[in-house]
Amino acid sequence: MAKVRDRVTWNEQLIICNFRWKRDIFGRAINELDSLNALLNTYVKQDKSKDSWSWNLAGNGLFTTKKLTSIIDEKILNHELFVHNESFLKNKLVPLKVAIFIWRALKKRIPVRTELDKRGIDLDSVRCPLCDHGVESIEHTLIFCRHAMDIWIRVYRWWGLRPVTNLSLNKLFKGNCNRSLTPLWSRIWQAIEWTYGYLLWKNRNQKVFSNSSWSGSSSLMEIQLKSFEWISSRLKMHRLDWLGWISDSWSCLVDCSV
Ligand SMILES: [Zn+2]
Repeated sequence: MAKVRDRVTWNEQLIICNFRWKRDIFGRAINELDSLNALLNTYVKQDKSKDSWSWNLAGNGLFTTKKLTSIIDEKILNHELFVHNESFLKNKLVPLKVAIFIWRALKKRIPVRTELDKRGIDLDSVRCPLCDHGVESIEHTLIFCRHAMDIWIRVYRWWGLRPVTNLSLNKLFKGNCNRSLTPLWSRIWQAIEWTYGYLLWKNRNQKVFSNSSWSGSSSLMEIQLKSFEWISSRLKMHRLDWLGWISDSWSCLVDCSV
């Protein structure tokens, strides 16, 4: 762990940043770093004895990028909820970071290769790094890539459903599988769809940047585990039974009096 003073020095009155990243930065972090550098370059230190670094956005006074990211994400989500009335984002059965990911995916703000290419980032290829069939768009990554399809079909099979035809990002993340559901079960099913999207993107990144292994069955198990952990800990009036959850989820609807 480094302190700000380990990375920032002064040349007369101008600030000099000596970043030493553990790994190459990518995606939105590149633009954010450019903005930070542009901001810092405008700062001229007036009096060496009076200036000091402080961080007032956390109660303990400690700066962490995790806390900063969470504050920014919360602001973005609240803006979408209240200014653009995106009420479907109000699903509180998953962590805030998952809702933010879904919002970014729907706004095409996920750094897949076609989106990076549109923003002028020079890439060797825009083909899907997982299947190498077709360009890597957000729709391809989250729906049409054969790796995504494989997992998605497993999720539907888990719930005893036929896969939806003509699936789109809107149908996937805003819909409720065309069944007539109670409001609570609509939120639960949506939480599972969101967990699928969030974990799929996380696994895509691990595969691309760390060359980790990928299997449909282990991905399904991860979705089952995470969605159970997130949803069961956030349900106020109900309880989910793990064995019912993984074996016959719709009957759990009755058994759990949901
Ligand atoms: Zn693909």
